Amino acid sequence: MTKVLVTGGSGLVGNHLKDILPDAIYISSKDYNLTRIDEVRDMMNKYRPDTVIHLAARVGGIMNNVTYPVDYLEENILINTNVLKMCHLHNVDRVVAILSTCIYPDKVEKYPMVEEDLFNGPPTPTNFSYAFAKRCMAAHIDSYVKQYNKRWSYLIPCNLYGEYDKYEEHNSHFVSALIKKIYKAEDKITLWGTGKPLRQFMYGGDLARVIKYVIDNDIVENLNVAPGEVYSIDEIAKIAKKACNKENLVVYYDNDKPDGQFRKDVDSSKLLSKLNSFEFTHLRTGIKKVYGKFSKRYDR
Ligand code: NAP
Repeated sequence: MTKVLVTGGSGLVGNHLKDILPDAIYISSKDYNLTRIDEVRDMMNKYRPDTVIHLAARVGGIMNNVTYPVDYLEENILINTNVLKMCHLHNVDRVVAILSTCIYPDKVEKYPMVEEDLFNGPPTPTNFSYAFAKRCMAAHIDSYVKQYNKRWSYLIPCNLYGEYDKYEEHNSHFVSALIKKIYKAEDKITLWGTGKPLRQFMYGGDLARVIKYVIDNDIVENLNVAPGEVYSIDEIAKIAKKACNKENLVVYYDNDKPDGQFRKDVDSSKLLSKLNSFEFTHLRTGIKKVYGKFSKRYDR
């Protein structure tokens, strides 16, 4: 039987994967600090996997990225380099690593972006370090494929949300933070920026299903993963208010706070041509589901 090891197994995506791939080995930073080559070596010697799903990364919101750019660059470069190097030395047959659509160029001529756009311009300044560390991993995997004929690849998902996301103020992603704000609000919420940037958001469980499909069906290609729905931040806020049954909340925008990248929507048609009748969870359905779980778990 194929032995699958998942780095970043305690995070948003890792927990969704656990729900549908329970027999894999799930690693958190408490098990092994992947910035340390000796610990990655110990991990690989202990488990000797055939397949590695590499999710582990330092991930965070705009403010955290802007405040700690060195940490985002160094930690992610170390984690990715150590994991790939050890996968090579242990002859790991399949590696599926995860990039992010926020590492694409800040602006391109034509949207939605396709996989070939990845290196066609600098990333947005607000997550410059994270983006370059991820781009290095893409180049690293492409290089292993070229030099050693590896069956390794990466997926490029859009922004995620889900019940397993972090809900601390400084660390959470937009939709998860929005769900928490809506839950706690009496009559109004305030969002950062202008409300105009365009976004794709995917339910974390959808990415887990795609990863499983790619492994099960031996798809070795670098692919965007995002639903077709593209909304402005303001439209997302309206969808969320409705999904959470709090349509009366008034939404204010704090224009002094950054918007982040204006748009970064990607085209997933390459992926969809390989998946058998796959359907992404609609944003409204996903938010409703997460809000239900969130409200059971948290006190006001
Ligand atoms: P997450 O919830 O922040 O989880 C990060 C995972 O990485 C955790 O399991 C964490 O372990 C582990 N980790 C971090 N530093 C580590 C270290 N030094 N050594 C070992 N493990 C370490 O992230 P996620 O949202 O699941 O993201 C998974 C992947 O998808 C990442 O590569 C991310 O870049 C990518 N992605 C995420 C999004 C998004 O919106 N969330 C969008 C696109 C792409 P602990 O729990 O022990 O800290």
